[in-house]
Amino acid sequence: MKALKLFSDKTFSLIDVEEPRLKDKEILINLGACGICGSDIGNIFGNSCKPSINIGHEVTGTIIKVGSNFKKNKFEGKRVFVNIHAPCNNCYYCIHGNETMCEKFLDNIFPGGIAEKIILSEWIIKNKSIFELPDSMSFEEGAMIEPLACCIRGWKKISFIKNDSVLIFGIGPIGILFAMLAKNYGASQIYCVDINQNRLNFCKKMNLGICVNGNTSELNRLSEVDNKRQPDLIIIATSDMTVIKKSIDIIRNGGTILIFGEPQKGIKVNIDLNKIYSKEINIKTTYAATNKEIQEALHLIKIKEIDVNKIITHRYNITHSKDAIENAHRREVIKAIIINK
Ligand SMILES: [Zn+2]
Ligand SMILES: [Zn+2]
Repeated sequence: MKALKLFSDKTFSLIDVEEPRLKDKEILINLGACGICGSDIGNIFGNSCKPSINIGHEVTGTIIKVGSNFKKNKFEGKRVFVNIHAPCNNCYYCIHGNETMCEKFLDNIFPGGIAEKIILSEWIIKNKSIFELPDSMSFEEGAMIEPLACCIRGWKKISFIKNDSVLIFGIGPIGILFAMLAKNYGASQIYCVDINQNRLNFCKKMNLGICVNGNTSELNRLSEVDNKRQPDLIIIATSDMTVIKKSIDIIRNGGTILIFGEPQKGIKVNIDLNKIYSKEINIKTTYAATNKEIQEALHLIKIKEIDVNKIITHRYNITHSKDAIENAHRREVIKAIIINK
């Protein structure tokens, strides 16, 4: 069978691998769809803080085989979404609500998310990280559950009041999901900032808010207006951390900056701590999602409250997964999804 492999020299290709052998307490799925995430791109082309040899973690598929521990007819043929990691829910971090920092919160699929067949480990099965997809939900829509869940987890870390204004740096798929959530939660104004004209055009068409080219002086005008009309919340959905300086300038007093995009390893930015202190700015970070947010994301997609189909611009057969990754890296696509047909 075919699987995408990332080698230690950071080259990657779709190779033939032996079909994985199933243990008693494992489940085998046939890949339905797997999204390409910004963190996959960072992992391959950048210098990720959390490097992984696994490319692809937004996984849906059909259960085709179960280990001898399970009743066959109860599982086989079911269409599922897989949250590829699960916390222990018992340790110091988990008890404090930092489940994604749990030592057990590791990738638990084999050989990876972009493979024709994938083994789901005992750990994620035991911790209920496999979710049945509603009949109405396509594999592609299901693959958007994970990125949306990550945004929901980030959103929970901020204090948002209806009619607050939100500014988002980076209008890739995550930025757009955040804009959709912000609209849903009743933001009075949403500013969508990017330097990529493709993305800005796409965002304009989606009518999500005021699209601003980050390279123009338009952004400076925000810092000149009355402080109460400056953004209450700024979401950094890009790995370009230089925007944090701008964020500190234009956030309102007492506002919150949420760092969602992954800063590459060793990145340092010169920031004015006095401004952070005197403006009483809250800076929050967020990483991944737990099954709680997965459940919420699944529900929002199911009831079409968040229409993820609007974001999926490109579908690639697994045989073209290398193109998908390269095109996503060049930002020629908004959201690329690998499908297995
Ligand atoms: Zn992701
Ligand atoms: Zn734990």
